[in-house]
Amino acid sequence: MTPDTSIIVPLAMLSDVATAALRRAGCDAAHARATAGVMVRAEQDGCSSHGLFRLPGYLAALRSGKVAGDATPVVAPLAPGLIRIDGQRGFAPLAMGLARENLAPLARSQGIAAAAIVNVHHFSALWVDIEPLVAEGLGAFCFTSYLPVVAPAGAKTPLFGTNPMAFGFPGADGGFMFDQASASMARGELQILSREGKLAPDGAGVDRDGNPTNDPAAILAGAQSPFGGHKGSSIALMIELLAGVLIGQPTSSEAFREETAFGALEGAGPPRGGVLLIAFDPQQFGDAPGWRAHAASFFSELRALPGMRLPGDRRRRERDRIAREGVALPAALWRDALEAAGHNPVTNRE
Ligand code: NDP
Repeated sequence: MTPDTSIIVPLAMLSDVATAALRRAGCDAAHARATAGVMVRAEQDGCSSHGLFRLPGYLAALRSGKVAGDATPVVAPLAPGLIRIDGQRGFAPLAMGLARENLAPLARSQGIAAAAIVNVHHFSALWVDIEPLVAEGLGAFCFTSYLPVVAPAGAKTPLFGTNPMAFGFPGADGGFMFDQASASMARGELQILSREGKLAPDGAGVDRDGNPTNDPAAILAGAQSPFGGHKGSSIALMIELLAGVLIGQPTSSEAFREETAFGALEGAGPPRGGVLLIAFDPQQFGDAPGWRAHAASFFSELRALPGMRLPGDRRRRERDRIAREGVALPAALWRDALEAAGHNPVTNRE
């Protein structure tokens, strides 16, 4: 496959087109705004694997009827520090916003609180889900599973999802955050390598026969590998438990069985599943007067190490640059998005 030419698009235009495309495919205004919002945030932070690249999947999920574009998420208390948000088969971003709104005051009053977000279709980058909590001074963890595309360490058959987790800790300059798949790389990254005719790094996965390969298409058809061998495999397993078993939601392999009703694994958009979101208030953990300065001195010690960069540094740098300059998108992807939004791909007018 030949590399696509790219086109620079201002973020506001990207947001309008993604929102319009979702509206035309059946999203109500709230879902369209929230779902387009996570794609724009990903593009703005230089994460193309979770940006506009996801739009065809979102649209396919609406068109097949798998996702309800007008679902109204419902909040219910489970215990003093525990809530459940039922997304009613909608895309996750709207339910995640509601979860944060309800979780933040609980975390402040209880010290720690959790939200089980169920019956949602999650397809996006996780830092977007925790960053607003971190910005208001809370720490956060977030976990979700996917579809069975990762072979557990030692096995050749996929059973785990790419199962990302994100962690955030508040502090100066937006605090600290990491957000990573438990697979050696996100599936979207692999799909982009395949589309661009590039090789995957060593250790990314195996082909259908279980042989290690650098061919992204062969890995997509075979199985991805967890990061760090058995250690990443254990993290992926933990996420199957936290985002699936614990909150009564399908594991990645159970989600796949549900998905077969909606067509191809890769083309049908995000599967139904759960998200576990935990928020905590550092003011309540016994060092209210000291933790901020303590964290700041820890981070300056860390940053002083030659060669060191913190997770999130690249993302924040990209955010400022892309807000100014616009985002580079594959021209064919942008054309398809314009068409889906009902815009003329030549004039970019409705
Ligand atoms: P990366 O491996 O690109 O990055 C993972 C984390 O490591 C980021 O916080 C990144 O910070 C940091 N990092 C990267 N390189 C360095 C370095 N040299 N030094 C220090 N820190 C570094 O991400 P993944 O490919 O694992 O995941 C990409 C995205 O895919 C995530 O946002 C994840 O949530 C999403 N995803 C979503 C799924 C879903 O089903 N919803 C499934 C799987 C993944 P920085 O951003 O600054 O580079």
